[in-house]
Amino acid sequence: MTQIYKKEFKCTLCGNLSTHEVIISTNTLGWPDLDTRPSEMARSTMYAWIQRCPSCGYCAPDISEEVAKAAKVIQGNVYREQLENPDYPKLANSFLCWSLIQEISEQFSDAGWASVHAAWACDDRDSVKSGKLCRMRAAHLFLRAREKGQKFAKGVGTEEALILTDILRRADQFEEALTICEEALTKGADENVKKLLEHEKTLIEEQDTSVANQSTILFAKVFQRMEEKGIKKKVFTKEELHALTKESEDDS
Ligand SMILES: [Zn+2]
Repeated sequence: MTQIYKKEFKCTLCGNLSTHEVIISTNTLGWPDLDTRPSEMARSTMYAWIQRCPSCGYCAPDISEEVAKAAKVIQGNVYREQLENPDYPKLANSFLCWSLIQEISEQFSDAGWASVHAAWACDDRDSVKSGKLCRMRAAHLFLRAREKGQKFAKGVGTEEALILTDILRRADQFEEALTICEEALTKGADENVKKLLEHEKTLIEEQDTSVANQSTILFAKVFQRMEEKGIKKKVFTKEELHALTKESEDDS
């Protein structure tokens, strides 16, 4: 269950007081999407991940905390335009503004993630075109993070490749996605990550830009079951997957 309370925050940049919702606890039921977006209920708490000062427009996870260069960035034209960009949902604009602040500070991993969150906010409003632009921005920032040796995923490099592949695929950038995916597959990834990468490759080859959920592939036992049964398929319907999962669970 998600528990939320309202708290007053003093903007570090302009001193204005405003009330924002804070998540005390939440939970997830089910598998995350391939780009790591959590399942419900955490999925619906995104509005509390970012705050926007109603007075000066400073956007940050906590507007009472000062961040290097933020005071200057929020006065810039790029920031002001993004803050009120009518092509994006308001929540996506807040995430993108935070992404701009992080980018100027060369925090490319955080800047990339803020853009991914903006993409999810677009998905929720069916803003396909804006979501694609957010993903292209995220991929660009993650590539810069890689160049700078900044990690943007917890695991080994192949997990980063998986996230990047999924973001590029969902942004219609199939060629780039395939290059990164194939390169990662040759690098001796962990078995689960490898299966996810192979699944990504199939989706790229089918030019499928829809959201993919880890549940379709990550269940090691399900794969074992598939091998036992000689099943070669990589993509399943919900019903097929449910049946395979259930059989595997019954075995253990
Ligand atoms: Zn402010």
